[in-house]
Amino acid sequence: MSLARQEMLKIQNLINGQMLDPVDGKYLDNFEPATGQLYALTPDSNERDLQLAIDAADHAFPDWKNISSENRAQVLHRLADLIEHNQDDLARAEAIDNGKPITLAKNVDIYRAAANIRFFANACTQFSSEAHAMEEVAINYTLRDPLGVVACISPWNLPLYLFTWKIAPALATGNTVLAKPSEITPMTAYLFSQLCIEAGLPAGVLNVLHGSGQSIGAPLTTHPKIKAVSFTGGSNTGTTIKQATAIHHKKLSLELGGKNPTLVFADCDFDRTVKEVARSAFANQGQICLCGSRIYIEQSIFDRFTEALIEQVEQLNVGDPLNADTQLGALVSESHMNKVLSYIELAQAEGGKILTGGNQMHMDGRCSGGYFIKPTIIAGLANNCRTNQEEIFGPVCTVQAFNDDVQALMMANDSEYGLAASIWSQDISRCHLMAKQLNTGIVWINCWLLRDLRTPFGGIKASGSGREGGLEALRFFTEPKNVCIQFNS
Ligand code: NAP
Repeated sequence: MSLARQEMLKIQNLINGQMLDPVDGKYLDNFEPATGQLYALTPDSNERDLQLAIDAADHAFPDWKNISSENRAQVLHRLADLIEHNQDDLARAEAIDNGKPITLAKNVDIYRAAANIRFFANACTQFSSEAHAMEEVAINYTLRDPLGVVACISPWNLPLYLFTWKIAPALATGNTVLAKPSEITPMTAYLFSQLCIEAGLPAGVLNVLHGSGQSIGAPLTTHPKIKAVSFTGGSNTGTTIKQATAIHHKKLSLELGGKNPTLVFADCDFDRTVKEVARSAFANQGQICLCGSRIYIEQSIFDRFTEALIEQVEQLNVGDPLNADTQLGALVSESHMNKVLSYIELAQAEGGKILTGGNQMHMDGRCSGGYFIKPTIIAGLANNCRTNQEEIFGPVCTVQAFNDDVQALMMANDSEYGLAASIWSQDISRCHLMAKQLNTGIVWINCWLLRDLRTPFGGIKASGSGREGGLEALRFFTEPKNVCIQFNS
């Protein structure tokens, strides 16, 4: 190993309450997307590390399960306090590791990480179960016990945000957890692991294992000790995990990809809609599963709205994620940038016209080696072409015109995905009718990404199965058991 590599920050696993190097001493490279520079090393953990973590989680389960929900909540609140206390450092780490703007990292990612932990700390103390009376015959009541050791596997686009969104309900309900963050963005899960120790989370309750999907993710999903898998990531990986877990009868929650429609009607609040539609397409460089990448605009305002959208998007400040006024940063990796660029080429081959953007951006100075793409809007494509059907997951959207509500609905639903949709219209009756008929798990009306953590979150079709959020998450991480008592006859 070169001297430079030896001196580089080495991320560690959290196993049994201790920060540990990988057993075999192997590491993966971790790059800063805005500069293209190698800046840290991530454990390339293997099955030996996995077994240590499984043993720790298994050992910790009975005690963690049996302490009161108030005591579990206390530890989780301390953890949320520590995230808030360290929000600037965590936001900077997220911006460096992922390429996202530091202001977004602080106001969205890190804010939500603390909110996730706090929400489920409170929720577990309010969780109750059902009773079903059979008049004069019997009463049934439902017990909800934690499952045991569970796996939480999260992606790179909202690293700490989605990592905590999974582990918080799992821990709050009394499970012990093996969590695997994406190898592409391991840094904030590492810093969070240190905060868990500082917060006094008992040893083994949460174990954070870094490594690749193949070496850690896949064996986690089939390990006999793992009772449930909560996964967020791509639809293809979701299919692999569904097949792998099926023969082991594990509980499974899948939050997968999206290709979300945005429906803009002529009676929308024009200026506000332009701004929000641009945000919904390009926030986090378009790397949010909920981003509206298929924009359908009513014919009568198509030209005016498209021009205003182009103007809005061209004003977005793309630059160094560490500058406070940057609105769009770098894409997460070179290979992901190349994938997005290849979709822009494909769109042109399919007959698409680039209205703005369409190319890599080359920055000066610190970011000259970074992975930046100009926000791109494409018109003139058929709804059934690959560009309009496949998830690009980058700063690329398409615009298409529709003539009436029926056509808008048909185009929006013509997708193998079914995660989210947004509707922009002042006619609330139309909005309700549309919302009911859209084949998605989430519909936003005159807003986008407005989140209430109590609501069910998730998609249908290739976008996943099961729901996260609120009671749905508490139910997923517990096993219902019905107890039936017959009255004396
Ligand atoms: P991904 O490649 O599917 O990876 C997700 C996680 O799974 C990573 O931690 C990955 O590890 C791990 N993994 C890979 N192969 C695995 C396997 N065979 N078994 C178990 N784990 C495995 O997805 P991504 O590229 O990180 O994330 C982008 C995708 O996530 C997009 O499709 C996006 O729409 C989706 N997403 C969905 C939601 C939602 O709520 N529906 C939210 C955010 C993102 P490594 O990265 O270390 O290989």
